Amino acid sequence: MLKLENIQAGYGNILAIKDIDLEINEGEIITLIGANGAGKSTTLMTISGIVPSRSGRILFDDREIQRKEPDEIVRLGICQVPEGRHIFPELTVQENLDMGAFLRRDKKEIKRDIDYVFSLFPILAERRGQDGGTLSGGEQQMLAMSRALMARPRLLLLDEPSMGLAPLVIRQIFEIIKQINAENRTTIFLVEQNANQALHIAHRGYVIENGRIVFSGKAEELLKNTDIQKAYLGI
Ligand code: ATP
Repeated sequence: MLKLENIQAGYGNILAIKDIDLEINEGEIITLIGANGAGKSTTLMTISGIVPSRSGRILFDDREIQRKEPDEIVRLGICQVPEGRHIFPELTVQENLDMGAFLRRDKKEIKRDIDYVFSLFPILAERRGQDGGTLSGGEQQMLAMSRALMARPRLLLLDEPSMGLAPLVIRQIFEIIKQINAENRTTIFLVEQNANQALHIAHRGYVIENGRIVFSGKAEELLKNTDIQKAYLGI
């Protein structure tokens, strides 16, 4: 579904990612794990068209997208939930969700999807009239994911959804990521520092160090790899 070939990208004279190759098949949960500053967010932002790639190709359904604008990429069905959530703090929960559906005209289906995200996150239904900025960190993460789902993405890019959240909320968020993937066949690319939990829900994983992929494989293989255990799993 998505393929990155020799992708390089960066900021000014900093090359943040170097020759990244990776592949995501339809229906998979793929995780990209790595330390602070390894290039995880840059990889996602390059796919979304926010950071331009300097070389290589990005193929979505075999079509090159590396020169497309971010809004075109959303229209193709790729939707990113950025690190730090970035919900609209002065809009209510309901209005935030409406914004997620701004490209759509199918009112009945939009209503159905709102009911669906409220079934995933019942707390958001209770808070539907409340301003986004007054929600807790976990609730804002739920809202950011729900807003992205309102665009009915085929590929959902999640940038560190567990960041700054309590263990119980993290567990809940990861469970729901699995559920979204299983129920709708939404393909998920999950960037995480929380390697252990990410690998427990992913089918496959990639490890990035200093802007390069240094390891990839099935999630259970990565969990058993002693180098990865030492570097990323605290074992
Ligand atoms: P983190 O988990 O800390 O967000 P990351 O793996 O997502 O890390 P990136 O945010 O992709 O890493 O950063 C990769 C490199 O690019 C880092 O060296 C970082 O300092 C640099 N970088 C990121 N954003 C910018 C920017 N806007 N301007 C200049 N350098 C940047």
